Amino acid sequence: MADKSYEAIVIGAGPGGYPAGIRLGQLGVKTLVVEKEYYGGVCLNWGCIPSKALIAAANTYLELSKLDEMGISVENASIDVGKLQDWKEGIVTKLTGGVKGLLKANKADTLMGTAKLVSKNTVEVTLPDGGKETIEATKGIVVATGAQVIQIPGMELDGETIISAREAVSLREAKGTMVVVGGGVIGMELGMVYQKLGMDVVVVELLPSILNEVDRDLVKVVERAFKKTGGTIHVEHKVEKITKSGGKATVTVASKDGKTFDIEADKVLMAIGFKPNSKGLGLEEVGVKLDDRGHIVVSETLETNVKGVYAVGDVIGAPYLAHKATKEGEIVAEVIAGHKAAVDWRAMPAAIFTEPEIATVGMSEAQAKEAGRKVKIGKFPFSVSGRAMAVRHTDGFIKTIVDADDHEVLGVGIVGPEASDLISEASLAIEMCAFAEDVHLTVHPHPTLGEAVMESFKHALGEAVHVLNR
Ligand SMILES: Cc1cc2nc3c(=O)[nH]c(=O)nc-3n(C[C@H](O)[C@H](O)[C@H](O)COP(=O)(O)OP(=O)(O)OC[C@H]3O[C@@H](n4cnc5c(N)ncnc54)[C@H](O)[C@@H]3O)c2cc1C
Repeated sequence: MADKSYEAIVIGAGPGGYPAGIRLGQLGVKTLVVEKEYYGGVCLNWGCIPSKALIAAANTYLELSKLDEMGISVENASIDVGKLQDWKEGIVTKLTGGVKGLLKANKADTLMGTAKLVSKNTVEVTLPDGGKETIEATKGIVVATGAQVIQIPGMELDGETIISAREAVSLREAKGTMVVVGGGVIGMELGMVYQKLGMDVVVVELLPSILNEVDRDLVKVVERAFKKTGGTIHVEHKVEKITKSGGKATVTVASKDGKTFDIEADKVLMAIGFKPNSKGLGLEEVGVKLDDRGHIVVSETLETNVKGVYAVGDVIGAPYLAHKATKEGEIVAEVIAGHKAAVDWRAMPAAIFTEPEIATVGMSEAQAKEAGRKVKIGKFPFSVSGRAMAVRHTDGFIKTIVDADDHEVLGVGIVGPEASDLISEASLAIEMCAFAEDVHLTVHPHPTLGEAVMESFKHALGEAVHVLNR
């Protein structure tokens, strides 16, 4: 006999779990959200938000040294990384408190504790004081437990010298050398921060390119910008060994042809990826199917093979993105409340907050060609945008991929200022099955960066006004 009964239980209050709880509450479903550590999950506590606060600060700091040409002189600019961390913590506290408040305001109950399934409709929660509660869910259980950092045997995190993003977003000093193992999104975002804050950052990437899954055209711009600030990148190199001594580390790196060299580092940031938090949750015991990497397998309604058990967010697999988790949280709430809803991604944008930013949605040029599509490519460089010149961020371009015959919008890639915001217009275009003409014929305000999106579509059709057509 359970201690309590709810219609829905959500395990985990990250970007997948808390929106599910809020939406379930809004839909009148009696809901409990169980969280073991922090409201807002990885994203709010040591992921998206803290990293973006640091990125904004590092970019602002770097800007100060470049304002001379605008007639602005800033003398003796300095940065107090400890104070920067206090400011960042303030943002985190505000947002995580807001999550709890939103759940309450939408009539979803919350409970601190570690949850596991003991049957397909019952959860056992271990409370912070060690006590246990058994709670049943009459309509559904949503597993939204996220993912954790992958560690390499022999190079385990110690939280001091060998760190993950979790510690990297809270460093109170930026001195010496940082080796970043893995030139993916997190490695490049945080590597660029610490390079700008004064460290010497060396990125070691096993694959042929940093940000290897992204269109090389876009990546090249970021690579150039990172190197310009003094950063070093070794692609097709492997970290063989890390030896620690006196709070520092010697990182032994091997090239493709077997040559090795050592890098002395004050910090080693391990950024090689994430694995799902699906162990110890009682999932296998109740028969929930996992894939070979431990992700929970779900249907398009986000239900597992066990009726009434659902899963959302990082725990069900890539892309590991907060907005994907949130959309799934909203969908699963609709499903549990008995509405018709399902996952149907036409457009899943992704933003990389390097400097300049990269944002993509839909197919890249290579993916479109691989899919057998005949394409037209439009390109518009920020170097000819009046707005980009006025804000002094002219690096990068918009790349538009449209079907060569009917001009359907297939994909857009942006590298440049405010790419993470600009991409939403392209997402809407793809979501609405728009054609290049739809964006081209839409009047965009002047002078804005958004005009560059419009011009890029015009360019794909050979009708650009502010750049030469081929
Ligand atoms: C440095 C960094 C930067 C990032 N930047 C971005 C970005 O800019 N944009 C973006 O889209 N994504 C970004 N991400 C990824 C994003 O943080 C994740 O995709 C997102 O947090 C996934 O949400 P989730 O709800 O699935 O999981 P999580 O955020 O991991 O939340 C899971 C929650 O479940 C709780 N939990 C786990 N097990 C239990 C249990 N047994 N009982 C109770 N509670 C449990 C955890 O404590 C946690 O709060 C970033 C990640 C990192 C590390």
